[in-house]
Amino acid sequence: MEQDLLVIGGGINGVGVAADAAGRGLRVTLCEMSDLSSGTSSASSRLIHGGLRYLETYDFKLVRESLVERSILTRLAPHLIHLQPFVMPHCPQLRPYWMLRLGLFIYDHLSYDPGIPSCRGLNSQEIATLQLKSNYNKALEYYDCTEDDSRLVLHVALLAQQQGATIMPRSKIVAAHRMQNGWHVTLEQTKANGRLNTLHLHCKAIVNAAGPWAQKVANEILGIKTAHKIKLVKGSHLVVPRIFNHDKAFILQHTDGRVIFLLPYLRDFTLIGTTDILLNTIENPPIVSDAEIQYLCDVTNKFVQNTITPEQVLYKYAGIRPLFDDNHKDASKISRDYVIDTDDVAAPVFTIFGGKITTYRHLAEVLCNKLTKYFPNCGAAWTKDAYLPGGDFQDNDIDSFRHNLIKDHENLPPRVLMHYVNNYGTRALDIINDIQNKTDLGIHFGAMLYQCEVDYLVKNEWAHTVDDILWRRGKMGLWFNASQVQALEQYLASFKHK
Ligand SMILES: Cc1cc2nc3c(=O)[nH]c(=O)nc-3n(C[C@H](O)[C@H](O)[C@H](O)COP(=O)(O)OP(=O)(O)OC[C@H]3O[C@@H](n4cnc5c(N)ncnc54)[C@H](O)[C@@H]3O)c2cc1C
Repeated sequence: MEQDLLVIGGGINGVGVAADAAGRGLRVTLCEMSDLSSGTSSASSRLIHGGLRYLETYDFKLVRESLVERSILTRLAPHLIHLQPFVMPHCPQLRPYWMLRLGLFIYDHLSYDPGIPSCRGLNSQEIATLQLKSNYNKALEYYDCTEDDSRLVLHVALLAQQQGATIMPRSKIVAAHRMQNGWHVTLEQTKANGRLNTLHLHCKAIVNAAGPWAQKVANEILGIKTAHKIKLVKGSHLVVPRIFNHDKAFILQHTDGRVIFLLPYLRDFTLIGTTDILLNTIENPPIVSDAEIQYLCDVTNKFVQNTITPEQVLYKYAGIRPLFDDNHKDASKISRDYVIDTDDVAAPVFTIFGGKITTYRHLAEVLCNKLTKYFPNCGAAWTKDAYLPGGDFQDNDIDSFRHNLIKDHENLPPRVLMHYVNNYGTRALDIINDIQNKTDLGIHFGAMLYQCEVDYLVKNEWAHTVDDILWRRGKMGLWFNASQVQALEQYLASFKHK
């Protein structure tokens, strides 16, 4: 296979680059060794945010860039990215109130988005309804956005495919040979039936977006030395039964200088995170330690009336931040900005270190602008106004779309229809295209998962396994019991023989 660009890694940065480059007219293949988004990009705090705390490290450029991206992405993917009020309780022994106000004032002004309400102080009646401990009598409210990280990755991968990119999950780069005019690459692909297939590909340039594995791929597979080094920082999250009777999120200041988020999560739960643990080697998969669970419970319990215990944790996950090493010893102080390392002594390689989900589009644009040096016919930047698949609501009006969908499909459960809008946007219509009645939805596997959605995911979104469907194409695993998982597993096995 002859390609212009091979992208290694199907996390947010890899799919972002694949989409941008393909839309500029390059022939692009993306290889991902496991499922799309199975690395760090499915283990985040699920925020599209400026990163309020980076103001304290004077990272104004990163905050400004992230806030601009927040505005762009809420416009391009209104079904996936939602405005969320955050409350910051004041802790008199930590940062003074005026400092919090000033920080949020700067945050608002770096954003310049008229669609996002400004920060404000809450009055005592409002604070009384928050279910915080009674010693918190001052608090500020500001806005950021929440999202579903792995669904965002899937949508950007679909955009890349629409632009002509070949997306290859379960395809690991195992060898690469550099020549003057390109790379000869070997991929090992795992087929649906478990068989291994070896593929060879020739490409003119490589983007190494392997996240925590980026340094390893650069050194051991591509045989290059990068100018920058990676720093691996683990972060963990807990999911507990809903702690609050309202839908505000909290940003909690801890005595160690860090902040912890409490986020309303999927109607029934609260998501708590995160930690910052320096790692010397990649944990695969990364493990949430007992100490991290206790730490997150302890910080939460300092603030909330409905305290939690480690026994109440329903689900936990950890991810590894692939940060670039800026020589900070304190893991929480290492910059979250990104660096693109270029090696072009012969056919070029670009290695990505750092970054955030929030800045993926900008990172991809910056990287693809660099490609024009090597591909003179490469088109101009275009993604700023390109809706993600399913984000193209008439007059940008998602509420009318929801309303009309329920009105036009009165024989279908409204909750299931809303689930389709939240996960697929306007593509919800593709799923229910031939469906008139509830029975047409097919087998009910559990929660809101019916056969028609499973079939759609297998056919259109590269889903193969139970985890692909329950934890990355959505988060319905939180409601599934063992026998429901088994039934889904058996159903998926039937596809392997087709
Ligand atoms: C705890 C935590 C919380 C976070 N919260 C936020 C947040 O709220 N908002 C935000 O904006 N950012 C957040 N981030 C940061 C964000 O999640 C990461 O910056 C981003 O997901 C990194 O994406 P990536 O594509 O670079 O890496 P990854 O998502 O890890 O993707 C790399 C991919 O490369 C693949 N790969 C590796 N080796 C090979 C190979 N040999 N062949 C083929 N494929 C290979 C891997 O399987 C993997 O899927 C958070 C990160 C963590 C850890």
